[in-house]
Amino acid sequence: MTERTFSIIKPDATRRNLTGKVNAVIEDAGLRIVAQRRIKMTDAQAKKFYEVHAERPFYGELVAFMTSAPVVVQVLEGDNAVARYREVMGATNPAQAADGTIRKLYAESVGENSVHGSDSLENAKLEIAQFFTDADIVG
Ligand code: GDP
Repeated sequence: MTERTFSIIKPDATRRNLTGKVNAVIEDAGLRIVAQRRIKMTDAQAKKFYEVHAERPFYGELVAFMTSAPVVVQVLEGDNAVARYREVMGATNPAQAADGTIRKLYAESVGENSVHGSDSLENAKLEIAQFFTDADIVG
């Protein structure tokens, strides 16, 4: 089934000029980038985005990281896009990520792990709506 998922190329990757390399892995996996914008996340945006982790010990660090440099927010489209992109990203901790995944190739640590991808179709819809309107997405 064709789906859309939400992706973020995180500050550790934009800082190292890896946007194109990450996009190449995404496109080689058959996912289509149907919306994309480079932004500097505000503190309020990052706090809202990671609200589910508010009680975790790393929440403050995570919000500080996500606002530390520009990010690239994206909508990806393709067959089973949500699960497919989770596979392409690899495990949260790059030390556990499979060969060929974005995190294995580029992530620096469990926190600074280069990309975000939605974990369910329901969350994908909510996350896309936080950063894009329907008119921004050209499939
Ligand atoms: P994901 O769905 O694979 O991104 O992983 P989670 O939903 O578990 O965590 C969300 C994000 O929080 C991760 O991608 C990391 O950027 C960050 N994170 C998770 N665990 C840790 C941790 O132990 N320390 C720090 N600093 N950040 C973490």
